[in-house]
Amino acid sequence: MIALLPTLAEPKQFSIAEKLLFVVLAVASAYAFWRRFGPVLGKILHSKKDADFHLAPVGRRVWDFVWEVMLQAKVIRERPLAGIAHALVFWAFCAFALVTLNHCLAVFGLGFLDPTGRVGRVYFDLAALFALLCAVAIAGLFVRRFVVRPKWLGELSLESGWIAFLIFTLMATYLGAFFATGEAAVRGLWWAHTLALLIFLPLIPHTKHLHLLLSPATVFLSRGGFARIPPLADDEDFGLVSGKDLTRLVSLQAYSCVECGRCTEHCPAANSDKQLNPKSVVLGVRAYLNEYRPASEEPLLGKFNAQEAVFQCTTCGACEFQCPVGIEHVPIIVGLRRGAVNTGAWDDDHGAKLFLALERGSNALGLSATERDKFVEKNTLPIFDGTQEYCLWLGCMGGYDPRGREIVLALVEVMRHLGVSFGVLRKEKCTGDPVRRLGNDLLFQQLAEANLAALSQSKTKKIISICPHCVRTIQEDWKAYGTPPEVEHHSEFLARYADRLHLPGPQKQGTRGTHEKIVFHDPCYLGRYRGVYDEPRQVARLAGELVEAPRSRERSFCCGAGGGLAFLGEEKGERVSQVRAAELSATGANVIAAACPFCNTMFRDALASQVSESRPGAPGPELLDIAQIAARGLRQGSR
Ligand code: SF4
Ligand code: SF4
Repeated sequence: MIALLPTLAEPKQFSIAEKLLFVVLAVASAYAFWRRFGPVLGKILHSKKDADFHLAPVGRRVWDFVWEVMLQAKVIRERPLAGIAHALVFWAFCAFALVTLNHCLAVFGLGFLDPTGRVGRVYFDLAALFALLCAVAIAGLFVRRFVVRPKWLGELSLESGWIAFLIFTLMATYLGAFFATGEAAVRGLWWAHTLALLIFLPLIPHTKHLHLLLSPATVFLSRGGFARIPPLADDEDFGLVSGKDLTRLVSLQAYSCVECGRCTEHCPAANSDKQLNPKSVVLGVRAYLNEYRPASEEPLLGKFNAQEAVFQCTTCGACEFQCPVGIEHVPIIVGLRRGAVNTGAWDDDHGAKLFLALERGSNALGLSATERDKFVEKNTLPIFDGTQEYCLWLGCMGGYDPRGREIVLALVEVMRHLGVSFGVLRKEKCTGDPVRRLGNDLLFQQLAEANLAALSQSKTKKIISICPHCVRTIQEDWKAYGTPPEVEHHSEFLARYADRLHLPGPQKQGTRGTHEKIVFHDPCYLGRYRGVYDEPRQVARLAGELVEAPRSRERSFCCGAGGGLAFLGEEKGERVSQVRAAELSATGANVIAAACPFCNTMFRDALASQVSESRPGAPGPELLDIAQIAARGLRQGSR
């Protein structure tokens, strides 16, 4: 195609009047651009500095920039068709940077790319290829937005139509210049291209297309890690209470949102009739910044974001995982919760009960610590004395919840079978996961410090836990208060020993064994948070044929328990756990495999109500943790 194109035609020269007109229009366009972009930049720069921001490691930032911005990998990965279309538009913009500069300088005879020269010809032809692809892509995106209209894109917006029209015009007028003959046509196309460009420029900061300018910086400057909750700066920092608490990163992210709705599409709350919509949270912060200065004392929760909505978040991280422009929703939502909790604005009976239970006792279930002692004693669980390989962390669910205890005992059975030594702490407190995510930092600190002291005293080197929430909290969140021991989830441990967990011999009549159809539910805190997907599947597969739910691995749909919500009482709207349980049941699997005691407890209730509503008396799918699958396999094998 490159060799087939005629030479790009440009006006030979410009009259004084044309030059003057160009200057006036360009200045007007630049002024209109700056009128909006200047204040936006000012609001970002006048926001509070991020206490935890470090430019290092630069290598990671450069990699993210290349991968997510230059290669548009995340945009394409999560929505391939629309993603490729967006990527083509972006790449065309990059290719057009030089073309546009040359186009504007040519008015004054300063063009540096000669359409008849070798370099200029190759470059213009290459840009023509991008222009063609971009024109097709933008037409496709226009049809998607205005004809197909996926609900996640929200209301029809005229500005999107205008922008699409201008981009199409830019590409069409550029391509047309290759085929134009006669001075009038060449000059007409040049001016049409110029006008489209000068109208497009100020529209960028005035519309969601501001992301074209900001998102490269947002991706480069992001905190890194996943759903990382930043530390509070000092004793005066209560979280995101008012404008003066908005940090530069939060403001930059708020202005970078492209309103694509990917976050909302995957949000369990937004998918179950809750008020929470992660896109609206981000746009709410933006609307606040548009109305108030960053130093404003006006509360952040109220006019633009509802308190009820931010406390409906399960911190599953699906939004953050999906966002193509590097917006970190979880720190923003937890920041808003911190603000509400630390100023006493959050008034929730269940929340207050949870905080009280953890202030006075040791576990989120509000039970006496002697209940754990009795469980440990009854099941002759050894006490960790520093000589065993693992400290088996029971957690609130494993130490107090009957179903969680069954999972712990199954793991104990497997560890004993494998001859791996372990012990439990004499005294253990909640890791603080629910209060950390609900925004009660003071209580979290107390719990983390008490646990770190107990672990250090017992000389613990390695922890194993059945709970991905405990694993995450110990490994990441405790770091603010000390050095936690190495910690692993039991799926990682079991997968390492998978070859010793095979069901020996053929399946015996009347037993459940290798003919099971199993669906594994990826817990958010194991999958998206820890990146562990294959290990639990390796264990689940031991019991039979593994099938996948439509939303699995990175796209897994939350069970509804995270972010402290397991302790906040009845949900409004449809229950998240029921949505997910129905999806898992619909796979036709007769075993639902879980790897988190919270998922387990949520699905237990959801499945029970599902069966009683739709098929009274019929047996529903069996719900098992992977530790129970492994232990059952060992028992069957020894029969
Ligand atoms: S973390 Fe999960 S529940 Fe919270 S807003 Fe994001 S997608 Fe929704
Ligand atoms: S926050 Fe991210 S994923 Fe959500 S609408 Fe904005 S750009 Fe899209």
